[in-house]
Amino acid sequence: MVKKVAIVGAGPSGVLLTHYLLRRQEKYQIDIFDFRSDPRTASFSKSRTFPIVLSQRGINALRQIEGLEEAVKAISLKTNGAVLHENNAKTRVINRKYQTWSLDRTNLVIKLLEQLTTKGDRNQLNIHFNHQCIQVDCAAKQVKFKKVDSEAEITVDYDLLVGADGARSVVRESLLKTDNFKCKQNYVPNDYKSIFLPPLNPKLGINWQQGKVHSWRIDNSTTVLLVYQMDSSMSGVVLFPHQDKTIAELATQQEVLSYFRQYFPEIGQIMPSSEAEDFASRSVSRVLTVRCNRYHYGDSVVLIGDAAHAVSPSLGQGCNAALEDAVIFNQILDKYSDNLAVAVEQFTIQRQADGIALVELSDYGLPSSKKLFFELLLRNSLSKYLHPILPKFFLPSLFELVAEGKLSYSEIFNLYQDWVDKVKKSNQEILSQ
Ligand SMILES: Cc1cc2nc3c(=O)[nH]c(=O)nc-3n(C[C@H](O)[C@H](O)[C@H](O)COP(=O)(O)OP(=O)(O)OC[C@H]3O[C@@H](n4cnc5c(N)ncnc54)[C@H](O)[C@@H]3O)c2cc1C
Repeated sequence: MVKKVAIVGAGPSGVLLTHYLLRRQEKYQIDIFDFRSDPRTASFSKSRTFPIVLSQRGINALRQIEGLEEAVKAISLKTNGAVLHENNAKTRVINRKYQTWSLDRTNLVIKLLEQLTTKGDRNQLNIHFNHQCIQVDCAAKQVKFKKVDSEAEITVDYDLLVGADGARSVVRESLLKTDNFKCKQNYVPNDYKSIFLPPLNPKLGINWQQGKVHSWRIDNSTTVLLVYQMDSSMSGVVLFPHQDKTIAELATQQEVLSYFRQYFPEIGQIMPSSEAEDFASRSVSRVLTVRCNRYHYGDSVVLIGDAAHAVSPSLGQGCNAALEDAVIFNQILDKYSDNLAVAVEQFTIQRQADGIALVELSDYGLPSSKKLFFELLLRNSLSKYLHPILPKFFLPSLFELVAEGKLSYSEIFNLYQDWVDKVKKSNQEILSQ
């Protein structure tokens, strides 16, 4: 019998999982719901988007669906490392072994949706935008949505409910009312604002390398991350400590320009006044991390992506992990012949430890302390030469390990546990000062 699947959230994890389910010989009738409007037709909102870097895990997840790797590659720029911009316009270049792709998160979703709907007969699929999930009745296997434009409500029956509704998941919240489900949510110490810069004017003589993530960091750990886009413009984020209101309170074009010219002069000189004005009015976003003790309920609910394990963007793995979830759930369906009751439970068994490991690594892989930050840089550069001789003392760079995707996040956490403990202690000391 065809099973009814309701997927809440048309983000990267929900849409990629739909691709995988549609390949399974018409076993599923799928309805995807998202409270936002269709990104393929809605006007592009700069407040709600940011660049993401896809590494091997994410790319492998796309590769297994025909046409997806090529389609996403065509809207991505190849990157392989970072340039750290230091004082006095000095730079430190970090090359990585593995190639990554940088692209805009909304454009990734648009591409995944386009590929979903342009392929063959899609009678098994309905996509409902402007539908906000407001309630789940796990016992009755029903999920309720409010139509954003009309306030009307609809109730949908399901055999499988997938909570792919991001860090502030309503599906996850409904599981809190069930037995034995526990979830810890924390805001990361840094908030962020998106930033967009035009293609560099050749007259300025600035030549920031393409194919790298560019970063600037000042003493209070405020960091600007920028990557090139396909049209040679740059976009990124400014991360800053939540308790420091300097950036949040920049209210006018002039205040924004003065701030960047003082603290990030290289960026200040290329920021046009239009972007300064937009930056002032763009909202500040907070990043939530999520640690759950299980990713399923009963025989019919599963959480994937940020809904299950939202992480800080520091390692650039949230989306990669979200896409990898779709692969893992698909493998479980293969192994257990689409037995949903077994599959949802197996997803917790196979994925929860990795989810927790990734949250820990993302929270504590990168230290706030300047001293430890330099220790990390030193360790990374020495590890290239010393890892083959003293593998236990000089681990491969954490970025390399998570990006290449050969080891699970739990295996990487086990290697990096001492470092994570050290950073955790140091970060706590800094926060208590
Ligand atoms: C600044 C920043 C930089 C990042 N950089 C990287 C990076 O470089 N690499 C990387 O791998 N990851 C990165 N990430 C993380 C990445 O963006 C997320 O991990 C990824 O988007 C998770 O995908 P998802 O589908 O699980 O959730 P989301 O992308 O959050 O999508 C959830 C969807 O659910 C919908 N939704 C939410 N609530 C409801 C509801 N009640 N009803 C209906 N629909 C709902 C939303 O509209 C959304 O479309 C970054 C994150 C941030 C904030």
